[in-house]
Amino acid sequence: MSKFRVEIGILAVKFNEMKDSKEFGINTICVHTGEVKDTQFKGAVSPMFVSTSYAFEGVDVKRYPRYFNTPNQEMLCKKIAALEHTEDGLIFGSGMAAISSAMFAFLKTGDHVILQQVIYGGTFNLVVSEFEKYGIEYSFTESDKVADFKALIKKNTKILYIETPSNPLLGITDLNAISSLASEHKIITMIDNTFASPINQNPADFGIDIILHSATKYMGGHSDISAGAIAASKEHIAQIWKTAINFGGNLSDYTVWLLERSLKTLNIRVKEQTKNAHEMAVYLENNAQIDRVYYPGLKSHPQYALAKKQMKGFGAMLSFELREGIDAMDFQNALKLIKPSMSLAGLESTTVSPAQTTHALLSEEERLERGIRDGLIRFSVGIEESQDLIEDIEQALLACAK
Ligand SMILES: *Cc1c(COP(=O)(O)O)cnc(C)c1O
Repeated sequence: MSKFRVEIGILAVKFNEMKDSKEFGINTICVHTGEVKDTQFKGAVSPMFVSTSYAFEGVDVKRYPRYFNTPNQEMLCKKIAALEHTEDGLIFGSGMAAISSAMFAFLKTGDHVILQQVIYGGTFNLVVSEFEKYGIEYSFTESDKVADFKALIKKNTKILYIETPSNPLLGITDLNAISSLASEHKIITMIDNTFASPINQNPADFGIDIILHSATKYMGGHSDISAGAIAASKEHIAQIWKTAINFGGNLSDYTVWLLERSLKTLNIRVKEQTKNAHEMAVYLENNAQIDRVYYPGLKSHPQYALAKKQMKGFGAMLSFELREGIDAMDFQNALKLIKPSMSLAGLESTTVSPAQTTHALLSEEERLERGIRDGLIRFSVGIEESQDLIEDIEQALLACAK
């Protein structure tokens, strides 16, 4: 009995030593990095610390939920940082809490921000409805080409903001070129990395400074958590933290705990979704009822080579255009397994028709300028068997053709 105990003890010590190393594989990071140790009962999973009141332990450690430093928050940030290959991280109550805190942390009156033309609608709204009030200037590029960003740089430009792959047409922005351009001019780079997830793209490896996520999407993954995340250097996180504690966008510790649980399967979920998406893209490209497929993993994608260079996998989001004569709403209503949804990235496959939803407020002309045709369907591919998804699409197309 005592011998057995000793052996277990040695194993535990070895494991703890290993934990400090940065050499872990992705699934080990997902499962173990940043777990809160249950030293009292030695339980297998992180205990949840829900206190909002902690003893004063000196000026350096003032624990309080809105300071982003409860035990569960602090530990989960280590997993976020490890996943994104950065020194540090922060987690928020929503993607927009993360994005707004990051932007306002670096901006003041008179500053200028350059944003990629196609960005998430909520971020677009943040910029056009809030920046003017604070005297912050902004410009949107004409495309995702680096020359467009360069042409807009002014003396007061503080941030270059990108999103790749972009929504809903899966355009690819050159991470290396953007980060070199920005560092030449001492400008901070920010990326919304939600669509790729850290499994398919690590922008820090290409010199991007601040990596933003709606953790409501792939990180949460089960369509039941609202959260956001930032990954960056210690220095940048410290600066964002100073603003974030004033805006108060912290995540509750109950949800932090759920997010940690979700992240344990991030790699296996996203890998499976990505594999499925690739199969769906190939199937759709060869379907006569479909005019066009937008997926960075297809050789027909104009930026396939760039995507291959900077992405580890091509992601689980794609878009396609129904052939003329098939109505996007009729098609979605005819689907039985795949659900129409405004959100994305869940285990379940979902579709959205941008012309009728996310881009409905634009005129038809403005939509066409952005390449959003009426028959465009954005497809968030889940983990169902790809054959079942294909059969669902087949029967829906058949029903609509009638
Ligand atoms: C959903 C989403 C956001 C916003 O995240 P919330 O969690 O809804 O605040 C930002 N960027 C992208 C790409 C998204 O899909």
